[in-house]
This record gives sequence, structure tokens and C-alpha cells, in this order.
Amino acid sequence: MHDAEVAVIGAGPIGLETAVALRRARVPFVHLEAGAIGATMGWWAPGTRYFSSPERIAIAGVPLVVQGEEKATREDYLRYLRQVAGAFALEVRTFERVAAVERESGWFVVRTAPSSHGVGGMEEQRRAQRLATDRGLAEGEGARSAPPRRGEPTREYRVRKIVLAIGNMHLPRMVGVPGEGLPHVSHYLEDPHKYFGKRVVIVGGRNSAAEAAVRLYRAGASVTLCQRRPELERERIKYWLLPELEWLIGKGQIGFEASVGVREITEGAVVFTRAGGYVEVPADMVLLLTGYVQEPGLFEMLGVELHGPERRPRFNHDTMETCVPGVFVAGTAVSGSQERARVFIENAHEHVDKLVRAIVGREVELPERAVFEGNEES
Ligand SMILES: Cc1cc2nc3c(=O)[nH]c(=O)nc-3n(C[C@H](O)[C@H](O)[C@H](O)COP(=O)(O)OP(=O)(O)OC[C@H]3O[C@@H](n4cnc5c(N)ncnc54)[C@H](O)[C@@H]3O)c2cc1C
Repeated sequence: MHDAEVAVIGAGPIGLETAVALRRARVPFVHLEAGAIGATMGWWAPGTRYFSSPERIAIAGVPLVVQGEEKATREDYLRYLRQVAGAFALEVRTFERVAAVERESGWFVVRTAPSSHGVGGMEEQRRAQRLATDRGLAEGEGARSAPPRRGEPTREYRVRKIVLAIGNMHLPRMVGVPGEGLPHVSHYLEDPHKYFGKRVVIVGGRNSAAEAAVRLYRAGASVTLCQRRPELERERIKYWLLPELEWLIGKGQIGFEASVGVREITEGAVVFTRAGGYVEVPADMVLLLTGYVQEPGLFEMLGVELHGPERRPRFNHDTMETCVPGVFVAGTAVSGSQERARVFIENAHEHVDKLVRAIVGREVELPERAVFEGNEES
């Protein structure tokens, strides 16, 4: 059993920024992460670029300098996170998943189990499917955080406070149609190279679907973008991507099926419902880019109240403390399974400042940084 004042759970950008702030404030803490640091970015397709400018996603006052004054790629940012972790000698206990938390006479006992990956991405989806099968549950239920299995080696940490910086893109939002589990169907965009020469149907109306359509077209795939709405959702697609997508659709280079709903996926096609009838679009590969949801197991285990359709944790906006004394929340974890992303790295830095002040109980010296109230979408 290891003792510390605080356990930080999650080593994404906001978990790492919290760790640096606690280190600067000389608060003893343990930092636990189910995968590698920055595990969420780990499952993005290679070469994916941030939409935020580098200064907005820089953490802990360390400048993020990107070659060519471009926006950072996933690779730039992962390299940067390693640099920050190294510069501050952060001791992140990676590949330790927090599986259970219990209360014991004024302490939280945090139990971890070995893990092969972060909480998110294709591996996590497979794990959820395995758990669901083992327990005879529907797939969506299988993802619930489960106590370590009998005989599984575990570690225990006794702490006074917990910071949940666990993110919110843990599992795909399932469409719930026959054929969704077929091998050529995925909720994750992989290296665009993989799709060369293939007929790819992309389902989704937001930025990730639009970006995938353009990238796969450039990689030599024959792409059809399919969505429920009658027109492209202009306000949900980045302003620099929209003109290219519209141009490619206008020229017939990217196929576009609007006002359609997925009915079924078969070996060679996606069947959509449209205006009372059906339309069948041939497909070698299908990408269902319909968003991701948060796995609420840790909140539930701790007794944190979740509210609204997005199941957002309730917390004090001045301190980031939830309704459970000693349990804090930071980063995109605050927003539950958000339908429309409103919390990003760039507007979550202030969570760190607030919670560290609350934990330390006084003003602490924090790195200078500009305050970004919105995000570059708005
Ligand atoms: C394609 C794409 C592009 C994006 N571009 C931007 C952008 O330009 N700007 C921006 O601000 N945001 C962007 N985002 C959103 C961005 O991913 C998040 O804002 C960012 O990762 C959130 O940081 P975080 O630290 O809150 O959570 P995360 O980075 O998701 O970190 C949470 C961590 O907690 C770990 N974890 C969860 N549960 C447990 C557990 N039980 N035990 C141990 N560890 C656990 C996970 O493994 C993960 O590493 C983008 C997202 C996508 C998908």
C-alpha cells in the first residue's frame, strides 16, 4: 500500500498539467494512467492535426513550438507531452488502470490492475466487448469499470483526495444496426494509407467525418460521405476544411448522401433509409464516425452525482470539487458524453489552477498563460 495526499487519474494533457502544478505546489501525489501518457491521442490516425493553435494546447507554461508554424500533429503533441513529463521528472505510473476505489476511515483506497492500453480507442472497444460477453450483457454495458478479477495482481494506493482527469472519449457511440460488428466496419479512422483503392462509406455529419472524407480521398480511396441531415453542418466543420469538402462534393470527387439513416451494413454495402425507401451504397470499408461516449464507472463508484442526458458530473465551478468531498474533476472529464464538444484542452487549463488552489488551500504560483474563454470553433 502506497500513501499520498492526492491520486491524479489520467495522464492526458490536463492530467499532466495537474501533475506539474501539484509538483510546483509541493503536494505529494501519485499519478495513474491506464495506457501510455497522452493515450487518447495515441489512437488517432497518424498525421491528425489539432484544430487549436499550439499556444492554446501548450501546458504548464512550456511553449509548444511546431515546425513551419503549423498546427501541431498528433506526433508533434505526443513528443511535446513526453518532453513536459521528462522536464518535470513526472513519475506517471503508466499501464495501471484504476479499477476500484473504496472509502476507508477518511482515506480513499485506489486499486489498480495492469492494463495494456489507455481507456479509449479500438483496444478499449474490444475489451468492452469481451467483458460484455463474459458477463452476458449488451455491448454498451460491458464497458463499466469492473473490480479486478480474482487472482489479478493489483496495487493499492491510500490517498486523501482524487483528481479525475479521465477524459470523455472512452467508447464509440454505437449506431445500433445489424452489421455494425462486421470486420470491415469501424468507429476509428486509421492510417489513411489503409484505405487506398477501396470504396469507403463514412457515416457522420461532424468535423471528424468531414476530415476523414477529405484525407481518404487524398489517399486514393473512393469516398461517400453519408449523413442524417439534409445539408452539411457548416458550423460543425472547421472553416478551413469546409470549402475543400464542398468543392470535392460539387465536383463529384467525394460522393454525398444526405437525409439518410443507416438501416443495415452487409458484406458489400451500407443500406440506408431515405424518404420512405432505401438506398444501397457499395462499400469495402465502413467508418461510423458518430462520436464517443464517457464511461461513468469511476464516477458511479465514488458516488459522484451525474446529471442531464450527457451524464455530466456535478461539481463546484470555483474549486472543481464534486459533490463527494475530496473528489475533483478536470479536463474533458467534466463534460460527460458531450453531444457537441464544448470542453477542450484549450478551455480546461483553468480547471487545473482552480483545483490546485482548492487542494493547497491558498493562492499558489501558477505559470503565466493567456485565458481562452471559447475555442477556435466559435
Ligand atoms: C481527432 C481529434 C482532434 C482533436 N483536436 C483537439 C484540439 O485541436 N484542441 C483541443 O483542445 N482538443 C482537441 N481534441 C480533444 C482532445 O482529445 C481532448 O481535448 C484532450 O485529449 C482532453 O484532454 P484530457 O486530459 O481532458 O483527457 P484525455 O486526453 O482523454 O486523457 C484522459 C486519460 O485518462 C486515462 N484514463 C481514463 N480512465 C482511467 C482509469 N480508470 N485508470 C487510469 N487511467 C484512466 C485515459 O487512458 C487517458 O489517457 C481532439 C480530439 C480528437 C478525437
